[in-house]
Amino acid sequence: MVKRRESVPVKVGNTVIGGHAPVLVQSMTNTPTEDYLATANQIRELAEAGSEIVRITVNTRDAAIALPKIVSELERQNLDIPIVGDFHYNGHLLLTEYPDCAKLLAKYRINPGNVGRGERHDENFQRMIDAALKWQKPVRIGVNWGSLDQDLLAKMMDENAKSAKPVDSHEVLIEAIVESAVQSAKMAEEYGLGRDQIILSAKVSEVPDLIEVYRRLASRCDHALHLGLTEAGMGMKGTVASAAALSVLLMDGIGDTIRVSLTPRPGASRNEEVEICQQILQSIGLRSFTAQVTACPGCGRTTSTLFQEMAQDIQAYLVEQRPNWQKIYPGSEELKVAVMGCIVNGPGESKHANIGISLPGTGEDPKAPVFVDGQHVTTLSGAGIVPEFIQMLESYVKNRYAITASVK
Ligand code: SF4
Repeated sequence: MVKRRESVPVKVGNTVIGGHAPVLVQSMTNTPTEDYLATANQIRELAEAGSEIVRITVNTRDAAIALPKIVSELERQNLDIPIVGDFHYNGHLLLTEYPDCAKLLAKYRINPGNVGRGERHDENFQRMIDAALKWQKPVRIGVNWGSLDQDLLAKMMDENAKSAKPVDSHEVLIEAIVESAVQSAKMAEEYGLGRDQIILSAKVSEVPDLIEVYRRLASRCDHALHLGLTEAGMGMKGTVASAAALSVLLMDGIGDTIRVSLTPRPGASRNEEVEICQQILQSIGLRSFTAQVTACPGCGRTTSTLFQEMAQDIQAYLVEQRPNWQKIYPGSEELKVAVMGCIVNGPGESKHANIGISLPGTGEDPKAPVFVDGQHVTTLSGAGIVPEFIQMLESYVKNRYAITASVK
């Protein structure tokens, strides 16, 4: 059981980040915000995939003008989801010149490395905080090492060079990332923002660095934390790196909301980043989203592809059923189904699942024992093994979770 770090809860639209709230899944659109319809449609797709907060870039005047149209379109589609505006360079202008945009966003993301340099930095930062105060919005102070506050970094490098025991420049960089977030949060508080209106993030793209940065951040403040490995990359690399980094931190109890910054294949759905977030949270037992299949990798004891096909078919079946089961079988997202290749680990693993099947391996009797709630209930054989098992699975879900629903 993970003991979550205590953080100050922050209300973001219709939801809460931090405190005792579950770790939320969020995502970001990649449509041009000016194209309000494409953006609204992608927000809906992300929400349907399970994103609980969606961020959009507000990078131009036209993007700020499009925001009310995006919100209206979402209302027309009956979707109530917090929309976060991502601001860089000109956020102080857009948030003051376009009040409808400032008013309708659920949260502002401010990058302290991109609000201007020298005197402009504090001035522009304060204007954005003033907008948050005026419209009573929370902010995420989102540091990114790709756009770290260069004045702060230079100052810390100078101080380090002059110190009696200088540390290496990478250590100064890590410390500067953490300090940028902590100092900006203090500044926001001095300008009047409540602790319950501030979320912090400090993203880097290397896994060990991310873990180190967030451990330091978590030890120095009680602000709610948004976790994410920035520029995670594509496909398997991005998925594994994100899972490695976020899992370590989440298991430490650090993190109140997560985003996976996966580079999608050209034209591919953006939903993958949401599914990965859900899988990370479910794998470490923090939340449940979809019934899971436990399957062995197979080995020389499995001679046919039946077992792989069956695991794949059942996984696809569970994903397909999810939207419907969420409504009619609450709790079914916690279901565990085992599909195992032979009797070596098959019966044992099946007993740990809600329902499990152990297929015959090479040289074994062509029989497949099925276990339900740890008990051997039947043995299937012949060509009908897969459909018969799916039928048993359906009955199990209906009996177990429909009853739970009626008690509720
Ligand atoms: S359960 Fe059987 S088939 Fe699966 S990996 Fe283990 S020994 Fe191989």
